[in-house]
Amino acid sequence: MKKIKGISVSEGVAIGKAAIIHREVLHVDRKHIKAENASEELAKFKKDIKIVIAELEHLIQNYAFSLDQKEILSTQKMILADPEFVNRVNYLISEENCSRENAISIYFTEVADIFRNMDNQFFSQRLTDYEDVAYRLLSHILKKGNNRLGCLNDKSILIMDNVTPSFVTRVFEKKIKGIITVKGSRNCHSSIIARSMNLPMLVNASGLLNEVENDQLIIIDGNNGEVIIDPSPEVLLDYENQYKQEQNQKEKLLKLIDVQAKTTDDKIIKLMSNIEIPEEVERVVKYNSDGIGLFRTEFMFIDREELPTEEEQYKIYKQIAEKMLPEPVTIRTIDVGGDKLSRILNLSHEDNPNLGCRGIRISFENIPIFKQQIKAALRANVVGNIKLMFPMISAVSEIYQAKEIIEECKLELKDKAVEFNSDLPIGAMIEIPSAVVTSDVIAAECDFLSIGTNDLVQYILAVDRDNEAVASYYQSCHPSVLRSIQLTAENAHKRDIKVAVCGEMASEPRFVQLLLGLGVDELSVSPGRMLKIKNEILNSSLHDSQLLAEKCLQQKTSAEVMKLLN
Ligand code: PEP
Ligand code: MG
Repeated sequence: MKKIKGISVSEGVAIGKAAIIHREVLHVDRKHIKAENASEELAKFKKDIKIVIAELEHLIQNYAFSLDQKEILSTQKMILADPEFVNRVNYLISEENCSRENAISIYFTEVADIFRNMDNQFFSQRLTDYEDVAYRLLSHILKKGNNRLGCLNDKSILIMDNVTPSFVTRVFEKKIKGIITVKGSRNCHSSIIARSMNLPMLVNASGLLNEVENDQLIIIDGNNGEVIIDPSPEVLLDYENQYKQEQNQKEKLLKLIDVQAKTTDDKIIKLMSNIEIPEEVERVVKYNSDGIGLFRTEFMFIDREELPTEEEQYKIYKQIAEKMLPEPVTIRTIDVGGDKLSRILNLSHEDNPNLGCRGIRISFENIPIFKQQIKAALRANVVGNIKLMFPMISAVSEIYQAKEIIEECKLELKDKAVEFNSDLPIGAMIEIPSAVVTSDVIAAECDFLSIGTNDLVQYILAVDRDNEAVASYYQSCHPSVLRSIQLTAENAHKRDIKVAVCGEMASEPRFVQLLLGLGVDELSVSPGRMLKIKNEILNSSLHDSQLLAEKCLQQKTSAEVMKLLN
């Protein structure tokens, strides 16, 4: 038995089998064979195809849980059976005496060149299919690489060096038990997604890949931030009991689904959800959320070769709005660092993306894209419950500018006689210190405010939220953060508008009373945390929360505040 420390992204225990995935880069030599060996090479190629097709069929039957997955794998099968592919590789082997891996690589490079020159999203997606097939086939021939994604199942704990947000979503469908990464941080977007899906995840488990082997029994202890490899029978039993208790607790919480979130002294708290991808709405509806307080729309833009069109966005927003009716849906215009979107937005590399072109700045730099998003929201709002929110607001002048652009969008839609609802409430995210300090003037121009504590903590304390080396400086209850929240709430209330917290602080039960006491009206949390937070609200009184907040505001250090909260 071995233990490795990591950083827990979500509490809870997961017990499963290690499934290590690392996508090795495959190098194919431009090798040639002797002419007399060509027929033998052709036979080997035929056999390779047969084996990989059988592997795909196995995956389709056993591991493809969604229609999309089935479709992707079936397309890959079709590519392998395509006569154009088979004939070209056969030709390269028999006429040009290429080795079969060389021939395969030549064919797929030719296809990729053709597809890349086609400026069309359909072909970009096809290219990904071709690249996946090439990888699958070559890793089989070269006996290298690792394509175990299809081998994940409901007993697996996925282990990777690092994981992208879209990959977390993909593996979630496999109903895996949990994820451990060697890199990553608690508040990076992959972690936020895992938490929202209630998927146990541990990050920053350095050294893990040297200690663990595929199929070994491992445990994620999300409460203590540890991975236990090959546990002894006693330790395993202990964790199995802990796991059972957690499941019982979860079942109890399910009883709160239809209970309204209000304090013991009857203050109703709007308890909303954060979503990253449209598919999450099903869970939000299931948990009877009071709305969507943050839809991080940039996830529709990342990992794509082309931007979603206005029409595509309109359909998504409308569908979500209809599903959530009568509760509100807060669409946040694209955020994240310019680095992540640089591929499709043609942005240049930035040495310091967190202080660079991100949030509303990306939108101002790319007005046509901003307008597409605004128009999609205006059109979808015929449903009537959509709100629009701007990230990274640093001054009220940005709200003026955004409002002007919204007006232009309305005129353009009117000119084209496109139906829309012009009554679109707008809000600012308060996540930059300058916005906190000027929240009185920002509030005067907005219909609501929402505090993004993830970034607020980062910017007010000058500590990178993704850098574990400085994690100890990332203190959510630093006195400056508490005063910022209180000031923002006060300024919002003076203007008679509501203030929400949509940062991860709202998803942590220990901060709920503090936030309510500081004057926050609404919370928007990870769907996976909804019921826990509701439970906390139901057991709090507003009066006591205000007393607690007052006391916390008198403290000089984060440690002193934490002591009070604990
Ligand atoms: C925040 O900064 O608190 C927030 C909610 O936005 P994001 O995590 O997407 O930056
Ligand atoms: Mg933010």
